[in-house]
Amino acid sequence: MAKRDNGIHGFMGGRNGFDNLSRILLFVALGVFILTALFRIWALAVLGGILIAIALFRVFSKNLSRRYAENQTYMQLTGNARGYVHRFYLRRKDKKTHKIFRCPNCSQKIRVPRGKGDIKIKCPSCRIEFVQNTGTEKK
Ligand SMILES: [Zn+2]
Repeated sequence: MAKRDNGIHGFMGGRNGFDNLSRILLFVALGVFILTALFRIWALAVLGGILIAIALFRVFSKNLSRRYAENQTYMQLTGNARGYVHRFYLRRKDKKTHKIFRCPNCSQKIRVPRGKGDIKIKCPSCRIEFVQNTGTEKK
């Protein structure tokens, strides 16, 4: 086996590096330090220090399969929450440009662009037509 212990690449070779779990640990640690400074609860600084220690331990760890499994567990546990936050932002963005109406006949949801005044909407599922106001163009 060739010796490649020169420079940062040699040092980081075979190590875990930053993954999602280590990133979020550092992020939470940062938040804890901000709270420490804000409320002057110095015990919190210890917690922040521990979080950073765990994050750095994971970054420099050579037990890749163990760290990978931990990261996978983290991703699974937070998957729903992260998906929810993502969908929430998408929906909020969409609300500015589109409006959701319900078909009066079958209550199918229909998404139409805003700012078109009164428009005739045809329900894609039961083919009934109804008129709705989508607002007037602003700005
Ligand atoms: Zn319908």
